Amino acid sequence: MTTTEPQTTTDAYLPAGLATPAAQRDGLDAPYWEGARDGKLIVQRCNACREFQWGPEWVCHHCHSFDLGWEEVEPRGNVYSWERIWHPVHPALTDACPYVVVLVELPQAGNIRMVGNLLGRPLDAVEIGSPVDAVFEHHADADDPFTLVQWRRSE
Ligand SMILES: [Zn+2]
Repeated sequence: MTTTEPQTTTDAYLPAGLATPAAQRDGLDAPYWEGARDGKLIVQRCNACREFQWGPEWVCHHCHSFDLGWEEVEPRGNVYSWERIWHPVHPALTDACPYVVVLVELPQAGNIRMVGNLLGRPLDAVEIGSPVDAVFEHHADADDPFTLVQWRRSE
């Protein structure tokens, strides 16, 4: 599926001290987090009607089937919406503002949308519809290692 090597980084975009993400205890979203660890963007797709959906659910919102699967998709998308964060919502972010949060639409996956951070200079203009690539931000040294999917303007 992915034709090029995934873009990865070990530089954290946001400072340490934030809650560590983890798969839900019921395992619903585990394939997503495991895929990210491997530098792959893996999203939910219904085995019955073949529609994509995000975030993960136990039932397909299109056809109500419980037969949901997972599929790797190309780690790219377009900025659907964005917001520049000026006010820290967590003490760890006190010196990290501003930063940019993006809602990324994936046209190759039924236009599902994912939330993430936009890497790069936070005061640079952000254009709706502009292409972005996923960047897999690895936190291998964490007590419970994880990878965040961040976004970067396509070159
Ligand atoms: Zn379905």
